[in-house]
Amino acid sequence: MNIQKLIRPDLLKLKPYVCARQNQATGILMDANENPYGRENRYPDPYAKEVRKALVKNLQKESRLLNVKNIFTGNGSDEVIDLLIRLFCGRQDEIMILEPTYGVYSVAATINGVKAKQVLLTEDFQIDLKKVFSAVSKRTKMIFLCSPNNPTGNLLRKNDVIEICKKFCGIVVVDEAYVEFADGKSLTSLIRKYPNLLILRTLSKAWGGAAIRLGYCVANPEIVDFLDRIKAPYNLSRLSQTAALKILSKPISSMIKKITTERDRVSKKLKSFGLKVYPSEANFLLFEVGNAKAVQKDLEKSGLIIRYRGDMPNLQNCLRVSIGTKKENDLFLKKLEQILEKVAFLDRDGALLFEPQETFQIDSIDKYKVLPGVFEGLKRLQKKGFKLVMVSNQNGIGTKDFPEENFWIPQNAFTRDLEKRGIFFDKIFICPHLPSDKCACRKPKIGIVKDYLQETPINFAKSFMFGDRPTDMEFAKNIGVKGYRAKLNSDSLLKLSKKI
Ligand code: PMP
Repeated sequence: MNIQKLIRPDLLKLKPYVCARQNQATGILMDANENPYGRENRYPDPYAKEVRKALVKNLQKESRLLNVKNIFTGNGSDEVIDLLIRLFCGRQDEIMILEPTYGVYSVAATINGVKAKQVLLTEDFQIDLKKVFSAVSKRTKMIFLCSPNNPTGNLLRKNDVIEICKKFCGIVVVDEAYVEFADGKSLTSLIRKYPNLLILRTLSKAWGGAAIRLGYCVANPEIVDFLDRIKAPYNLSRLSQTAALKILSKPISSMIKKITTERDRVSKKLKSFGLKVYPSEANFLLFEVGNAKAVQKDLEKSGLIIRYRGDMPNLQNCLRVSIGTKKENDLFLKKLEQILEKVAFLDRDGALLFEPQETFQIDSIDKYKVLPGVFEGLKRLQKKGFKLVMVSNQNGIGTKDFPEENFWIPQNAFTRDLEKRGIFFDKIFICPHLPSDKCACRKPKIGIVKDYLQETPINFAKSFMFGDRPTDMEFAKNIGVKGYRAKLNSDSLLKLSKKI
C-alpha cells in the first residue's frame, strides 16, 4: 500500500518548520531567544525522544519488533486524532466512525471541515463488515475503530479489524486507549504486517496519567515521520515529558488488577439489581436503567458524577460509570440501590378481586368483591417500599357486551376503597381488547408497560408480578421479574406480602 498516496497532497510538499532544539540541545544555547534565567527557561525536546524510548521498552513486551521509529507522541491521544485527520483528509474527504463510540473522532473531523460518516455497530457492538464496506466511498480516507470501545467497553473482534486492514484502501485507526485493562489483547503486533494500520494509546487510563496529557500512536515509520512534520514544534512540555518518564518507570499491573477486580465486582452487583450490564474489558461499565437521565441527576445531587450516554445511537437509557476505588464504588452502588424502585406488578381479577368464573368479567357493582387479605397485603407491600402497579386484561371494554361504565363502576369503587385505606397504585394498566384483536398490550405481551419500564428506574431483581394465570407468569418473564402465582380467589397476596 502506498501511504504517500493517502496523505493530503499539499502536506506531501510541506517544508516543516525547523525548530531550534531539533538538532542541538547542548552547548551555550543562544539560538532560540530563550531567557537565560529560571528553571523552565529552555524549550523541551521536540520529539520527546526519552519518552518514546520508554514507551517502546514497554511495547516490546507486546511486540518485540517495534522500535522508536514506530512511535509518535502527542498532547494526549486527542491531539494525535486531530493530527491524523489533518494529515490524511482534506475538505473533500471523509472519515468513517462506528457508532456508538468515542465522540472526539467526529468532532475533530468537523473542526477540520471533514465529514464523519457514521455506521452503526451490531447489537453486541461488533463491526458489521458488510455495512462498513458498503458505506466506504472514494472519499473515505480513514476508518476509526475503538477497542475496547468507549462507551460500550467491549473489544472488537481481531479478525474483523484484520479484514478491514486488508480490504480497505485507506488508514485504519484502532484506538486502544483502554487496552491495558483487556489482558494483553493489543493489536500493536499487526502494524508491521498492515502498513495502513495505526494504533492509538495513552497514559491517561491504565497508567493513571490523565493530567500529564500524553498520548501516542504506534504506526509504520512513514506515518510517524509525517506526523512529526506537521505537529506543533514543541507539542509536549518538559513537565509532561518528565512526568511521563516517571510514570513509565513504575509497574502498573497491580493497579490494573485492582481496577479490573473492582470492575467485575461492580458489574456483578449491578446485575444483582436486575439491571442489564454490558460486558467490559475497560475501566468502566455501561449499564441500562429506566429513566437513566433522572438517575444520573439524582446521583449527581449526592455528589456522584457518572455519565449519561442515553443520547448516543442504540444506547437508550444507558449510563457509563468509571471504576473508582472500592470505597467510591460502594458509595455509588449504595446510592444507586436507594434510587431504584421495587415494583409489585399485580393482576386484578382472581388475584385482588373475586373473579366470577362463569363470565371472567367483573362488570357490575354486585360482582365487586375484594379478596380476603388484599387490603392488608397491599398495605404491607406499600410499607415495604413497593410501588403498586395494576396490570389487567379486560375482554372487550367498550363493546356491546361490556360497556365502558360496566367496567369503571366496580373499578372506581375498588380504587376508592383502596384510597380510603391509604393504598395508592402508582399506575393502573388496563388492556381493553379482545384476544382476537391481537393487540400489543394484552398480557403476556408487555406493550402496555413498555413506557413505564423506560421511565422508571426499576430494581428488577426485587420486583415481581403477582397473578393467577400462566399468562401472568409469562408476562413476569417477559419483563424480567419474578412471577408469583396466586391461588385463584384466595388470600395469596397476604401470604406473599408477609414473606417478601
Ligand atoms: N480515546 C478514547 C477511546 C478515550 O476514551 C479517550 C479519553 N476519554 C481518549 C482517546 C483521549 O485520551 P487522551 O487523554 O490521551 O487524550
